[in-house]
Amino acid sequence: MNLILFGPPGAGKGTQAQFLVETYRIPQISTGDMLRTAVKAGTPLGVKAQEIMIQGGLVSDDIVLGIVAERLAQDDCAAGFVLDGFPRTIPQADALSAILKQVGRAIDHVISLEVDGEEIVKRLSGRRSCSSCGKGYHLAFDPPLRAGVCDVCGSGLVQRADDQEETVRNRLLVYEQQTAPLKDYYRSRQVLCSIPGIGPIVEIQQRIAAALVE
Ligand code: ADP
Ligand code: ADP
Ligand code: ZN
Repeated sequence: MNLILFGPPGAGKGTQAQFLVETYRIPQISTGDMLRTAVKAGTPLGVKAQEIMIQGGLVSDDIVLGIVAERLAQDDCAAGFVLDGFPRTIPQADALSAILKQVGRAIDHVISLEVDGEEIVKRLSGRRSCSSCGKGYHLAFDPPLRAGVCDVCGSGLVQRADDQEETVRNRLLVYEQQTAPLKDYYRSRQVLCSIPGIGPIVEIQQRIAAALVE
């Protein structure tokens, strides 16, 4: 199953990706996570990406396509994958379909999580993640069992630098201008499933599971 999880920043893509990974036994490919890893490690690619990520802009299509193409070629993607945070521009979507076509594959479903702006701001301001394993939490909506500590590995939780209010506003603008048009792109290719993204996390999982068996 070749899936894309689509939606604005904070829509719940990372949260729902975890469920898809467990249910369908396919890897999550998060370009945001891969870029943050490169930044942390100080690789040449990370150094190039860092400044634009802090501002909430988009990293160049060339850089992102390079890391995605390399990742999709790995063995664990043979039975499918869930892309999270990619594609974010029409050129990225075109390049993705070309990469897949070369190996006789295509995207099966694009799951678009529909969440309004007010909810997004609440979600991003309370978002925290584990500094070690990366698991996501929310201070109010999905808190860890012990405040500030990861349930899975016991490490401390941190806030992303780009979840500060001014940066969030820029990211939402960038989303509307460059990424939202992909909905029409995938709708016209008949792979778009729109899922209401508000409500308990488990209910959204059920909506996604139901949409995938249709
Ligand atoms: P969000 O939680 O807002 O969906 P991500 O973790 O997916 O954020 O991405 C964080 C940042 O990494 C983005 O603001 C952008 O700078 C960069 N990034 C991630 N994926 C892409 C992509 N497909 N194209 C360009 N930039 C990307
Ligand atoms: P994205 O990957 O789309 O940027 P995340 O999965 O990181 O979004 O979710 C953003 C924040 O909202 C996180 O703190 C997460 O715990 C929280 N969250 C995710 N799904 C829901 C939901 N259905 N209701 C309330 N909060 C949610
Ligand atoms: Zn952890």
